[in-house]
Amino acid sequence: MKTLIRNARIIDCKDRVIENGDMLFSEEGILEIGRVDQDADRVIDGTDRTVLPGFIDCHVHPACLCAEDEMTVSYLTYKGAMDMLRSGITTFRSVGTKYNADVRLRNLIESGQIDGPRIKAAGAPICITCGHCEEIGLPCDTVGETLKAARTLCKERVDWLKMMPTAGVLGVGPATEIQLSREQIEAVIAVGHAFNTPTCAHLMNYEALEFCVEAGLTCVEHGYDMDERIARRMVELGTWYVPTVAVTLQESTYIKPDTKHNKELVEKAAAAQQRVRNAVKIAIREGVKMAVGTDTGCPFTDPEHYAYGTELYLYSISGMAPLDILKAATIRGAELLGIDGETGSLECGKCADITVISGDPLEDIENCKRVDYTFCRGKLLYHRA
Ligand SMILES: [Zn+2]
Repeated sequence: MKTLIRNARIIDCKDRVIENGDMLFSEEGILEIGRVDQDADRVIDGTDRTVLPGFIDCHVHPACLCAEDEMTVSYLTYKGAMDMLRSGITTFRSVGTKYNADVRLRNLIESGQIDGPRIKAAGAPICITCGHCEEIGLPCDTVGETLKAARTLCKERVDWLKMMPTAGVLGVGPATEIQLSREQIEAVIAVGHAFNTPTCAHLMNYEALEFCVEAGLTCVEHGYDMDERIARRMVELGTWYVPTVAVTLQESTYIKPDTKHNKELVEKAAAAQQRVRNAVKIAIREGVKMAVGTDTGCPFTDPEHYAYGTELYLYSISGMAPLDILKAATIRGAELLGIDGETGSLECGKCADITVISGDPLEDIENCKRVDYTFCRGKLLYHRA
């Protein structure tokens, strides 16, 4: 089925911004960009709208950190994936889902049995007993257990290995506590190299962050303690950064401090918000490779609360130019996930993963919250009523 969008602003996230252009695409891919003289099965008026490559969210927990039975987690993983279409997300990286439900959903979508966004899945995260995200993870307390967990995940064909070297905002005690040992971190990275599987780590402590970067980690998640020195090393080593700025803002804004636990949570989130804002400014200034991730699945971090658009807005007030933000949301994410040959920019021949929004995001980045249409591989999977 061919779709034609007429008279729209087209931002290809490569090198062109076309005012008043047309774009033709189908399940086969993007067919024409510019002036299109043929008809199509579906025609969309692009007046006052912008056509963008589908957004990529590189840090998501589609089942909302759910630790119930396998059936419930699987259903919530599917529901979470479909919800993300409302934010214009056509690809996401799942970095922590119990029972590897994200891997199974990826397989169903890739084999064409069901329609949905493109998924890169890390399965269950590697953590310690009683550590951060143990409820959804694979607790490992020795190097042997860590090697076994990492190899088992690779055998199940995860796209990424995710580990939890430190504690986090959600949970008891300080977020900065170190949990995985250096030997365990090295074991995960070694298995990643052996199986050609990239590694990412939840990092909220300076020492652990520095150790992971030097050990050859592929991507830093959160990295709230980033300073100039570490940022420069990340540039030298080509390490990626997915800061997840919005999550602690959402938590500190919306969680009611009505119990002792919630009060502590709000305070931890507010403190983390200060640190991540600083980290992001440094990363932008030093030119660290960045992709967008929201931590969707954490409290109040979801499409309903416009987590993705808020994340983009927070980049803009941290010094990133609007076009660079749109690239971080699309082509950079595709590079991080190793799929920039097929998606991430609007080019003829690439897959038609497309997001159509109202307004101009270069004028106001928060227009990215106004998603009208989301297409995955040329199929219309979301349309704002
Ligand atoms: Zn997370």
